[in-house]
Amino acid sequence: NFDVLVVGGGPAGSAAAIYAARKGLNTGVVAERFGGQVADTVGIENFISVKETEGPKLVANLEAHVRHYEVDIMHSQKAVKLSQNELFELELANGAVLKAKTVILSTGARWREMNVPGEKEYRGRGVAYCPHCDGPLFKGKRVAVIGGGNSGIEAAIDLAGIVEHVTVLEFDSKLRADAVLVKKAQSMGNIDIVLNAQSTEVLGDGSKVTGINYTDRVTGEAKHVALAGIFVQIGLVPNTEWLRGTLELTNRGEIIVDSHGQTSMKGVFAAGDATNTPFKQIIIAMGSGATASLGAFDYLIRNS
Ligand code: FAD
Repeated sequence: NFDVLVVGGGPAGSAAAIYAARKGLNTGVVAERFGGQVADTVGIENFISVKETEGPKLVANLEAHVRHYEVDIMHSQKAVKLSQNELFELELANGAVLKAKTVILSTGARWREMNVPGEKEYRGRGVAYCPHCDGPLFKGKRVAVIGGGNSGIEAAIDLAGIVEHVTVLEFDSKLRADAVLVKKAQSMGNIDIVLNAQSTEVLGDGSKVTGINYTDRVTGEAKHVALAGIFVQIGLVPNTEWLRGTLELTNRGEIIVDSHGQTSMKGVFAAGDATNTPFKQIIIAMGSGATASLGAFDYLIRNS
């Protein structure tokens, strides 16, 4: 039986595990894929105190740091159900059930993809999902933002200050973003907004993106935009489908936490991109993992 069972081995889960182990708590980590989204990241330039690193390098450092303590890491294991008897019980896809006094959920999120040819091939080579992370790589170049919701228009405004020009492609006949953001975007000289645009293909020269094709859904015309970067902003989906009905989630599926990382289920904490934290970044996920772990420690000293 674990004192603290962490579900998810990304930055949030790693931080939570280290903080728990350093309190002398019996700690386990269940991770479908250790490293999480960081494993898919090429360059990282905003992990404070490390000027520049690469995803796989940071993942190796995370795992080495966790392994420095007596943490039981269970790789390639997917959690499918959480329930509570005397202890919390976590059921894995392979049928095993793990028991713990507290649980920290840090299952992260995944970007919703356009699902068009070329997108996967050029991911990290022009196709990007995080303007805070990758915006500066496109300094002085032309880019597109896919999606006209709040995150898409925010991304366009953010990028417009760095890149030469931004084309926003929105599938719908109107933008869903807040009026104040739309107004701001329209006031900037280097943002074009295209409505009724269905992205159809990412084009490249074999090593990097050179453009995007889309169909005008009103006229049916095929169009092409030459550019160096494509920021896909059509939603971030939390990996919480398996928790529906177990604890409180927002309507977007994010786990609702308080300032201690406590969820609606007493003794179950959560951290990182899987939660309703407004900003999703490595350093923020780590901080919230530490918070959730200290929250769990506080819970344990009061309840056992
Ligand atoms: P994740 O990293 O998503 O980790 C989730 C963990 O949970 C994984 O181990 C996963 O396998 C596991 N998991 C999920 N479901 C289950 C389950 N049911 N059972 C067991 N395990 C499960 N942020 C920055 O700060 N700087 C950057 O430069 C940057 N670049 C990025 C580039 C890309 C391409 C992407 C996709 C993201 C980038 N981000 C960047 C965002 C950053 O990676 C995330 O904010 C951060 O990884 C969130 O950490 P997390 O631990 O909450 O979740």
